[in-house]
Parts: sequence; structure tokens; C-alpha cells
Amino acid sequence: MKKFLVIPLFLLLLSGKVGHGQQSPAGSDIRGVVMLFGQAEVDIAYPGFNAMNRLASRFSVSSCDGTTARLCLSPRDFEQFIAAGIPYKLVKPDERKGFFTASSVSEAMHWQSYPTWKHYDTIMHKIADHWPEVCLLDTIGFSIMGRAVLALKISDNPGTDESEPAVMLSSSIHGDEIAGFVLLMRLAEYLAAGSGGGGLASELVSGLEIWINPLANPDGAYRNGDTIVYPVRANSNGYDLNRNFPDPEASPPPPLQKETRDMIKFLEAKRFALSVNLHSGAEVVNYPWDRWTRIHPDDVWFNTVCRRYADTVHLYAEPGYMTFLNNGVTRGWEWYVITGGRQDFVTWGLGGREVTIEIDDTKLTPGSNLEAMWEWHHRSLLRYISEALSGVTGTVTDTDTGDPLSAKIFIAGHDADSSHIYSDTLSGAYCRLLPPGSWNLIFSCPGYEPYTITAVLTSGEPLLIRDVQMEKSGNDYPDPPGSGLLIWPNPSDGKVSIMPQEQVTGEVTVTLANATGALIRHYRTIAQPGLPVVCDFGSLPYGMYIISVRKEPVGPVVRGKAVFKRLITE
Ligand SMILES: [Zn+2]
Repeated sequence: MKKFLVIPLFLLLLSGKVGHGQQSPAGSDIRGVVMLFGQAEVDIAYPGFNAMNRLASRFSVSSCDGTTARLCLSPRDFEQFIAAGIPYKLVKPDERKGFFTASSVSEAMHWQSYPTWKHYDTIMHKIADHWPEVCLLDTIGFSIMGRAVLALKISDNPGTDESEPAVMLSSSIHGDEIAGFVLLMRLAEYLAAGSGGGGLASELVSGLEIWINPLANPDGAYRNGDTIVYPVRANSNGYDLNRNFPDPEASPPPPLQKETRDMIKFLEAKRFALSVNLHSGAEVVNYPWDRWTRIHPDDVWFNTVCRRYADTVHLYAEPGYMTFLNNGVTRGWEWYVITGGRQDFVTWGLGGREVTIEIDDTKLTPGSNLEAMWEWHHRSLLRYISEALSGVTGTVTDTDTGDPLSAKIFIAGHDADSSHIYSDTLSGAYCRLLPPGSWNLIFSCPGYEPYTITAVLTSGEPLLIRDVQMEKSGNDYPDPPGSGLLIWPNPSDGKVSIMPQEQVTGEVTVTLANATGALIRHYRTIAQPGLPVVCDFGSLPYGMYIISVRKEPVGPVVRGKAVFKRLITE
């Protein structure tokens, strides 16, 4: 039995006001809808590219085309919108026709209805318990209202942190865009169930660490309690969580919400090579940048991957589906600019690669359409996960000790806007997703000689594994002696580095005397703890000298002998 949830009373209360496009100068219609539904959506005339971007920095734009933009107003910002006096058309709240809530866990697991909050929790545990050899249930954090933000890890040896590329699929950071919520639970079950079958699912589960977070904003989806009744976009403070991530330029930074802080911590710990954020409200695959109106250095890679996603959808979906903008693919900013989105944060801030996929024009996808969503998307999602299996991967370690190194991995003449990546501090593992071609990857790490590898990638080949060992560089200075002064090289041509102990740092006087004690040079400078002071005595005759360093104003003083040699060229 499916419960058919309609709440006509609310709509009766609003009859004659909502959805007929009347403009209410006082904004009372907006107030009424926010009161009843927890948010209000309004359509405004598309004001042009720049004005649109300014507007998107003040209000949460959920979609726009060349004619109309749709804004989602939360209890936090609807009064500001009313005060701005922008002409609008109130969008009639979704009547939820065909929106089904399952009456049991087993009904929910037919994936044609929406689970209650308790069903959801049970389903996630059920999948983890049924396939313990490949599943581990984890919690990203807790929402403001105390709901667990769940993530299911699906990988062989799920209890160990293997150095496999990590991939995350996440949905419904906007709590009222919920088709992806069911889609990802079903995908988790599909991957776990198929993990032993020898097909693509087992290839992905054995080669990658896949994390599935079906519901990133539980308080938005379950705003009214245990069932999804008039869910909202924002969290319980009225913040759009997909405008809430740190931004490289926005000042001041947004007040980070609890859900955002927890997600950042999780993302920082896992360092996903590849991730995706599922939404509804449009039908398009959207890739970075969202905030900068310029091309990401890996634009070719992003476009190829997104094109493959949409083209695969087109093979199975009804005609006209996911054809918005450039036949279902767009750069974020070419659609409309946003700041604080997760896709950009992951991509510029964490060296990951994240895209945003809008899977349905209708935000509250009817239960009866969820089967079609699965049929149209699951192959694309599996293919998308497999994108983490083409590129260069390996570990970076110290040649002598074998210790993992956190190296910066940079492609000269290609990387910009923080598109380089880092190897993992704990394991030294790295994964750079790249299209076919010949790539020079430069590995650099403080105290180590830079190392370059050439990776030749061909289409259809699996991940190229290149482990890199780095040698300590000659610039890794020895510790200064317990007494005296470190001088090197020694002998030298007169150009030397000196390093006193830490108690002789700060403002110092460097003095050079000859072997008879006669003062040759002296000057004041700053010595920093652990860093050499570079001296140039290159014009002096060869011989033995005394270099002393005195901490000002009262000492102590340290000294050492230096031998200057000259090449006789005349
Ligand atoms: Zn969204």
C-alpha cells in the first residue's frame, strides 16, 4: 500500500492567491507561503548576466534560463527579497500529486516511493549488514536538528583505508530535490549486490573506495518530522547549504553551518579524487567553475566526462530529457554564477573533481517516475564512477625511509586556479584524473629534490600506476652545532651560508675577522630560527677567517672558522 499524501487544506487556504501570477506589492503572498511551506519560490524576469550574478549572490537561485530565473526564498531571506521590490511571480507550491511515502521498509526498497526518516536509517543499516564484506556505514556528522548525515562506504576491505582512488556520490543537499535521494540508495544496493558478480559493479567496488551519501540535508527533506511533507531547500537555519562552502574570493566568508562544517571535515579527511552532487530543478550536467567566469584547466576532461554522462542518459531516456543548455551539459558560470557551491570548493580547495547533476525539472519527483530515473541514470552513474579509473595514480615516498610524503603534483603550463593536487599526508597516495595524452607531472615537496614523470595516457586504458620516490635535497640543512656556528660549504669561494643556534637568532651582528683578528666586515641582519643567513665574502683574498654572530644587544656570540679558496684563472 502506498500512502498518497496530499494536503489540500493548505492549498485551499491559499486559493485565489497562489499560482495565478498576481503581484502583491506588499509581498503578503510570499509571507503566507513561507509560513505554510517553510519557503517560497518566485519567478522573476531574467535581468541579464551581470545583474543575475549580483542577484545570485544575495538570494538562492535554483534555476534560470534566458527568460526567467527562479529564486527560492527561505524564512531567513524572504523579507529582504520583498524589501528589494523586484517584480515577481509566486510559484504555486507543489501539490505533491503522485508523491508517495512508503508504508514499510520493504516497500521503500522497491524504490518507487520515498522512505520515512526511520525507513531511511533502517535501509542504510540493512545494506551495510547484508553485505558486510563490501559495506561500512559511517556518519559524516549530524544536522542541526540532530539527524545523522549517513554515508555508506562500498569497497573491498571496507574496514581498511586502501590507497585506492576515493569517489563520493551525494544527493539532496537541497532538501526539496529528492529524486537523487532514492536513486543513490538504490545505487548503493546495486553496487553491493553486484560486487561479487564479476561485472562493472565488482570492478568498481574492488578498484575504488566508493562513498554514497544519499541525503546531505536531512533537516530540509524531513522538515516536518518523520515523513517528507513539504520539504525545503535550506537547512533548519534557512541557509542554502550549496552556497555555504568557503569561497576563494567571497568576503566575508559565509557563516558556515553545522552541516557544512561536518561535510568539510569529511571531505578533507577522504580527499575524493572524484565526486558528484545530485540535484533537481533542471536537467543538465554542470561542471566547474560556478564562481569564476573562466575555463578550468581540466575543461577538456570535465567536458568529456559530463558529455559521456548526458549522452549515455540520452540512449535510455525519453526524447527531450536532459537536453537543457548545450544538450544537457554546461559550465556552471555559463548557466549562472554562484558562490559557496560545494563543486567549486572541492575542486579548487581540495584538489578533487566534482560536478553537479540536475536530474529532474520537477523537484518533487513523483514516486511513479523514480523507476524511470533509475533506468535513465544508473548506467551513467556507474560510468561516472569508473572515470576515477583513468588517470595517473600511485604513492609518493621518501627514497631512504619509505615514509609517505605530501607532495604537490603540478603540470607545468597547464595547471592554474589551484587545479594541481597533493598526495595524501598519511599514505602518500595520489590520483590525478586526466584525459588521454602525454603529461609531465612535477612532484615537489619542501626539503626534497623535485621529481618529474611523464605519463602517457591512452583512451580506454586503466589507471596508470606510477609510484614516486623523492630524494632529500642538498638544501636540507644540517642542524647547527651545540656550540659554535654552522658554516657551509667550508671551504668555499667566500659565498657561505651560516646558521647559529636558536638562542642567537633575531637581530644579530655578523662579523668577519682575518686570522690575525683584524676586523674585515661587520653588519646587522636578521637571523631566523632554522633558516640560514647567506653571506657574500666573495671579493676577499684566500685564507682563513673567523665569522662570528652576536645576538643584539648583549649576546650571546657564536663563532666558527671559514676557509676561502680562489681559483686562479690568470
Ligand atoms: Zn539544487
